[in-house]
Amino acid sequence: MSNGHRKLSGRIVIATHNPGKLAEMRELLAPHGIEAVSAGELGLGEPDETGDTFEANARIKAVAAAEAAQLPAFADDSGIVVHALDGAPGIYSARWAGPGKDFTAAMTRIERLLQERGATSADKRGAHFVSALCVAWPDGHVEEVEARVDGTLVWPPRGTAGFGYDPMFLPEGHDRTFGEMTSLEKHGLPPLGLGLSHRARAFVKLAEICLDQR
Ligand code: IMP
Repeated sequence: MSNGHRKLSGRIVIATHNPGKLAEMRELLAPHGIEAVSAGELGLGEPDETGDTFEANARIKAVAAAEAAQLPAFADDSGIVVHALDGAPGIYSARWAGPGKDFTAAMTRIERLLQERGATSADKRGAHFVSALCVAWPDGHVEEVEARVDGTLVWPPRGTAGFGYDPMFLPEGHDRTFGEMTSLEKHGLPPLGLGLSHRARAFVKLAEICLDQR
């Protein structure tokens, strides 16, 4: 069954310089027989993320790595969208933490803005994480998917697991924040995990169209 989608196989490059993301993506791809090398390991540069959507930024990273490595390339872009803040920080989620990657400061900034807008009850504190994934081939073909997980923002932050905005994010239907969940609960795919996170959900979509099911 080809339905217009192209399958990934063999060796690919993962367009990230972030060791955490690389490990997570390798783990997800290994069961499908994909050997992943990182853009960092190949000494490839990092393109400027000049897009104004998650999808555009994932594509910029994947296309640049595919051209430079002459291999299929896999990239993601992600962030948190706070509804009462007109979607901020959105594609600027990493930048809000500054060069020192201070997510306590970034979460405090969100909370201050929510307070300024009177968003004190749970119904006014909705947010979602987004993950856009893109696979690009050296001939210019791309496959793209996007997924989200909805929730509410709590204050003070809870839990020390995870990273980024996890301790503030209470996923819908759960009573623990991402910061209070194990990595398996948050990112793990069924049957072992809940397939809860935006990245896990996007990955399942991508696997359906681009990966051989084992
Ligand atoms: P990216 O590396 O450009 O995709 O930036 C993503 C940023 O969004 C990260 O630095 C985090 O701040 C935030 N983010 C994305 N996914 C998650 C998550 O699963 N938990 C917490 N924060 C996240």
